[in-house]
Amino acid sequence: MDCIFCKIGAKEIPAMMVYEDDHAFAILDITPRAPGHAMVIPKIHASTLLDLPGAEIGPVFEALKKVTARIEEVLRPDGFTIGVNHGDVSGQTVKHLHIHILPRWRGDKGSSLHAVVNNPPQEELKDLAARLKF
Ligand code: AMP
Ligand code: ZN
Repeated sequence: MDCIFCKIGAKEIPAMMVYEDDHAFAILDITPRAPGHAMVIPKIHASTLLDLPGAEIGPVFEALKKVTARIEEVLRPDGFTIGVNHGDVSGQTVKHLHIHILPRWRGDKGSSLHAVVNNPPQEELKDLAARLKF
């Protein structure tokens, strides 16, 4: 498969790999938006979270926690924004699920995840909740 993150995971393409286990790895983003901007990536190819087998979810989040803790220990940011561009419309350019870890510092001129969209629902929240409830 012609997937850059599969190739990085298989060591066919070099990358700044800072973490690896049987299920996931983490690399530094080649165009960092902040010092320590990293991505945690499942080894198995899945375009989005919805394509990732259930058994991989836990290990990927374990890796996410480890890498976040490491960045906190080494770079001492004031916090993090952790997120996924999930699908074309959200800005996903690499079609292999990856979780961005963006270390944040006070005064870094960033904003919160809420800033990525401003499209409040027309529908009453209670009606939406009723439709969405499991
Ligand atoms: P996204 O927009 O969420 O799909 O982000 C994909 C990210 O992958 C971008 O931030 C790119 O800078 C990053 N990226 C693409 N190719 C590489 C690479 N070879 N090594 C490291 N990061 C990469
Ligand atoms: Zn892939």
